[in-house]
Amino acid sequence: MNDPIDTNNAGNRAGSTASPIDYDAIIVGAGIAGLYQLYRLREMGLKVRALDAGSAVGGTWYWNRYPGARVDSQSYIYQYWFSDELLEEWDWNERFPAQPETERYLNHVADKFDLRKDIQFNTTVTSAHWDAAHSRWIIDTDRGDSFAAPYFVSCAGMLSAPVAAPFPGRETFKGKIVHTARWPRDGVDLHGKRVGVIGTGATGIQVIQTIAAQVGELKVFQRTPQYAVAMRNETYDDDARKAWRAQYPALRESVHHTFAGFDYDFETDKFLDLSPAERKATLERIWADGSLSFWVGGFAELFADETVNAEISEFVRAKIRARIKDPVVAEKLVPKSFGFGTARVPLETGYYDVYNRDNVELVDVSEIPIEGFTENGLLVGDREYPLDVVILATGFDAGTGALSRMDVHGRDGRSLTELWRKDIRSTLGLQVHGFPNLFTVAGPLAPSTAFCNMATCLQQQVDWVTDCITYLREQGFKTIEPSAEKEAWWVQHHDDTANATLMMTTNSWYTGANIEGKPRRLLSYIGGVGNYRKYCDEAQASHYEGYAVT
Ligand code: NAP
Repeated sequence: MNDPIDTNNAGNRAGSTASPIDYDAIIVGAGIAGLYQLYRLREMGLKVRALDAGSAVGGTWYWNRYPGARVDSQSYIYQYWFSDELLEEWDWNERFPAQPETERYLNHVADKFDLRKDIQFNTTVTSAHWDAAHSRWIIDTDRGDSFAAPYFVSCAGMLSAPVAAPFPGRETFKGKIVHTARWPRDGVDLHGKRVGVIGTGATGIQVIQTIAAQVGELKVFQRTPQYAVAMRNETYDDDARKAWRAQYPALRESVHHTFAGFDYDFETDKFLDLSPAERKATLERIWADGSLSFWVGGFAELFADETVNAEISEFVRAKIRARIKDPVVAEKLVPKSFGFGTARVPLETGYYDVYNRDNVELVDVSEIPIEGFTENGLLVGDREYPLDVVILATGFDAGTGALSRMDVHGRDGRSLTELWRKDIRSTLGLQVHGFPNLFTVAGPLAPSTAFCNMATCLQQQVDWVTDCITYLREQGFKTIEPSAEKEAWWVQHHDDTANATLMMTTNSWYTGANIEGKPRRLLSYIGGVGNYRKYCDEAQASHYEGYAVT
């Protein structure tokens, strides 16, 4: 069978024969960020082309069409704010919409603003080179075409480069292997089948809770259990939508000032100032909201104070235990090796109940790892698990993966892939020293990588990039690049902020720990969306002090 994940799309400009077609800007990606960036730059009168490896718009919501895929941010804040007409006409059906609804929304936006005509689908960027002599980027694709543009804006996503451990024996397996982020558009028939799921992160949890009742047998291969919070989803009728619409003007403003770009913020009470009964009551109240507010809208001390974290972790462990009948299975599902909230918190609906079903088995691979595929299934130690379908919910090379796979070369030919292989650096997560006029929306070291309602942060970053390009053009400048000092300042501030928390103590994609050899750094800025925005605004207000603008 074919490898479900293409990790080898690095290209070489030297081998390209195409003469580049000129644009003002090339955007990579036609997801939430890419569509909005295209809209904004086109609005300025620029000649723009967006390239996307998919065959349609949607980005994350195009690729991740696995069973149960659903957004963890509330629909009324996981949307675009730039058009009142759009806000007025689009009806959300659920508090946490499933993938098809969000994909439909993005298609609606693409149609409404006539964006498709400037998007080239089925196109993967294979290399991008800075041409200093002409102050432009040369971008080559797997279709053999080549583009030249002064501005190169990556909206390629922070969780768009799927990974899977190179389990040996793949080619011998007679069944089907599918990665959640490469789920076929026409689906995979799982009814009555023997299905294995590898991975129990936010994705695995959604898949498992959705397919358990359809499949014949389900084997869940779990290495690390997660602290999942029970989602409280609800459907909206016209009255509910009307009520939310009335709040849009306020929400559009307020989400930019909270810790994580949601409509809620941390509790004002300090956890340790409360009595045990008050703590419990407050935790129950936030828990009942059934959203990520239990994590990024609860107690801020959770992130930095081990005592607080331990108590809140125990609260969540008790919630998990209460759901599972078999105490041995329950203990396997209760995380003990890290504190609550120091890795991405998944939301769940019926996930823990799945383990009370007769057709589901939890296979603990924390001590005896998966050895590989056999002809019939997966081998763990000396036990073979016969399977018809293996679902890889094994995650992504987050933050840096998408750009690293693009083979980007900046000033003097320096390679971004090589740089990030040694040390993951950026300035505000938006630019990188040595790479003039490269903008990295959702790049590493910005909150957009993991501590933000993505829609909030992506729009803020796209607005910043748009303002920056506007400034350059209005002032007659050709290039902008953060200085080494400016970048060192941001990296230091980012690290100081991260090191003051417990986040670095946990192994997950947040710290790059899921990729062998990846430099360890918190991929996402944890100083808060409001603070981050302030730093971005300052850069702009100071006319990009600390940047080389030529
Ligand atoms: P993930 O959180 O990185 O989880 C990957 C899973 O695969 C982990 O359980 C990992 O175990 C396991 N794994 C990897 N290699 C393995 C191996 N060799 N053997 C056994 N297990 C292995 O990836 P994800 O679940 O795709 O989620 C990534 C992120 O996407 C989320 O954190 C979230 O930000 C986003 N997401 C969002 C939504 C939403 O908004 N609704 C939904 C899904 C995902 P270890 O933990 O032991 O490494």
